[in-house]
Amino acid sequence: MAYPNSDASQVSTHPRGARASWRSPHRLVLAAVAALLLVGLAGLPSSAAWPIASRDSYLSRGYSSGHRADDLAATRGTRVVPIGTGRVVFAGWKSNCGGYQVWIAHGDGRYTAYYHLGKEIVYSGKPVTRQETILGTVGSSGCATGAHLHVELWKGFPWRSGSYRVNPWGAIDSGLYLPSRYR
Ligand SMILES: [Zn+2]
Repeated sequence: MAYPNSDASQVSTHPRGARASWRSPHRLVLAAVAALLLVGLAGLPSSAAWPIASRDSYLSRGYSSGHRADDLAATRGTRVVPIGTGRVVFAGWKSNCGGYQVWIAHGDGRYTAYYHLGKEIVYSGKPVTRQETILGTVGSSGCATGAHLHVELWKGFPWRSGSYRVNPWGAIDSGLYLPSRYR
């Protein structure tokens, strides 16, 4: 900060002026961060529902750089439900080893994808409710060797350039069907 002259009255007012000009952009940054946090909480709360309607299901394989998803093992035919409210953006078969699958947009840039379904029940465009709408059933379609749900959490539309997956495990921590061992 340059002091243009040595006049005592001007120097004495300088700190206040300097602080004001420093604070305004700082407050804008804080407000932007707070707004982003609120948007994130509104769309898909950090507390997301267990996506299988059975307390007997369990984590059979966790997230790693070679497996960017969680595998939840359950009896074939058990209902699969969304971990958060949103809208279906894909439902059907894909030859990507995922078999019958459903993708959900949660409205805040986050998406979830549910793979290896025995069958999908919803259709693209359908609004879905956290833990309530039945997306399909647990199966082993695609490249699965046994009945389980492979669930992915995406930042950005699944498989698009610039999108990436994060570990869903930290988010899936609540809901009617959360097995007691994870409560
Ligand atoms: Zn998997």
